[in-house]
Amino acid sequence: MDDAPFTTIIEPFRIHSVEPLTMTTRAERQDHLRTAGYNLFQLRAQHVLIDLLTDSGTGAMSRDQWAAIQHGDESYAGSPSYYVFVDAVRELFPFEHVIPVHQGRAAEKILFSALGGAGKVVPNNTHFDTTRANVEASGASAVDLVIAEGRDPVSDHPFKGNMDLAALEALLAARADDVPCVMVTITNNSGGGQPVSLENLRGVREICDRYGKPLYLDACRFAENAWFIREREEGQGDRDVSDIVREISGLADGMTMSAKKDPMGNIGGWLAMNDDDLAQRCRNTLILTEGFPTYGGLAGRDLEALAQGLREVVQHDYLRYRIRSTAYLGEALVKLGVPVLTPIGGHAVYIDARALAPHLSPLEYPGQAVAVALYELGGIRSCEIGTVMFGRQADGTEQPASMELVRLAIPRRTYTQSHIDYVIEVCERLAAVAPSLPGYRITSEPPVLRHFTASFEPLR
Ligand SMILES: *Cc1c(COP(=O)(O)O)cnc(C)c1O
Repeated sequence: MDDAPFTTIIEPFRIHSVEPLTMTTRAERQDHLRTAGYNLFQLRAQHVLIDLLTDSGTGAMSRDQWAAIQHGDESYAGSPSYYVFVDAVRELFPFEHVIPVHQGRAAEKILFSALGGAGKVVPNNTHFDTTRANVEASGASAVDLVIAEGRDPVSDHPFKGNMDLAALEALLAARADDVPCVMVTITNNSGGGQPVSLENLRGVREICDRYGKPLYLDACRFAENAWFIREREEGQGDRDVSDIVREISGLADGMTMSAKKDPMGNIGGWLAMNDDDLAQRCRNTLILTEGFPTYGGLAGRDLEALAQGLREVVQHDYLRYRIRSTAYLGEALVKLGVPVLTPIGGHAVYIDARALAPHLSPLEYPGQAVAVALYELGGIRSCEIGTVMFGRQADGTEQPASMELVRLAIPRRTYTQSHIDYVIEVCERLAAVAPSLPGYRITSEPPVLRHFTASFEPLR
């Protein structure tokens, strides 16, 4: 008997309840695009066939999560669901204080209302857009100190999310008094879903200790990050992912969290920390904006679903499937010659639109052109991460972004391999027509965060 393991990594679940997908024709999609001003955020979701706009809140909950919802206790104060939630969080992240919030940005808003302020500076490997916005809204500045490899689309460094330790040290040496905390984002979402190594986190801790600074994790994809550590970091291959997660949290003083990512929630988040005095101040703000400290902005049933999601996301069969299925899409695109960021990240594949449509200049928005084409060709919704998202400057002028990316984010446990095979086929068609894609111009835009609501017109 041959006991060699099989190489097909299957979805470690079967389907229990289904949602219909609506098929549309290309002519219908062209119509929907015109109605939406060529902005994919303005489409009706039922006009999308495969929705890869984001992995945030779009995952499928399990049977056991839906069952947990029935245990939700909606008491205003001291609900048992709060204690179930806190126990599940502290099983992985044993911080003294766990404060539920309605989603990640609420945790950021509360934390930086307490720690931020004019003249302060917050280092991070790469701030996510809402994190940066909340740091800046407090008057502080947000600096990104990811290693140089993390800015190179094709470097094959295994931990492209790592913090540049020398740059962190230099910032602290120059401005220690202005730094209220150091943050590390795991995995590095804005940098392509790339992981941070344990070794790098230990290095950040050591620098924080020398300067007496607290370290906060932006831990939305902590389980995916821990899986990459298990797979790629020397000496980690036999460890349980939960154990790696506990070691990571032991290096930090607190965390912000969007439970719409790895905790498998459709909504939720939390803020956690060891500092009693800071926790008290954060809870005071929480009561003003989110709710009483035992529910934050959530219902008791949400807290129950998240507790169960946390137990599921650290299971090795799930993580093996999750990371493998994202790589499956990425590797297929590489094979077809579609330029993508490599190595493939945990939650998404990023098409390099500048390389795919080099005839378009940044201000003709190549990422937008590619994202619109993916929808028109095959009903696939993706997200431009380029000059549309980042190009508008505070003074109203426009600058090309450093990269023109189109993110195909994979919702957790939602699509099957045949859905992804279809995406690959549409991408093959996309590559064939890319040289003739029209650029776009913006016909109307709001002053900030324009990518959500701007209208466009093709340049033909
Ligand atoms: C999604 C996300 C956030 C913000 O969380 P929301 O739940 O969307 O408010 C913060 N940081 C990172 C890295 C994220 O991916």
